[in-house]
Amino acid sequence: MPVPKYRTSASKRDMRRSHHALRAPGLSVCPNCHEVKLSHVVCPSCGFYKGKQVLETKSSSTSWDGSDLSSSKVQAKDETLEDSSKKDS
Ligand SMILES: [Zn+2]
Repeated sequence: MPVPKYRTSASKRDMRRSHHALRAPGLSVCPNCHEVKLSHVVCPSCGFYKGKQVLETKSSSTSWDGSDLSSSKVQAKDETLEDSSKKDS
């Protein structure tokens, strides 16, 4: 098994790692539904590309923005408050 003759210097190691940084993906806004999507990729929310519908998409219920969870939490809190008030009275 070949073994390096010399230890890699900190300078050479850091020069090698100068290309390892991650970059943010190229995001763009869909001209049809104005959702943020990857550029040069079919819009996952409306299925449009170059102004044409190229994919069948399900209804908007598939995309979830967390509003249901927050509203259900608020409702649960309200219910507990109501229950405690009923027990007190
Ligand atoms: Zn779209």
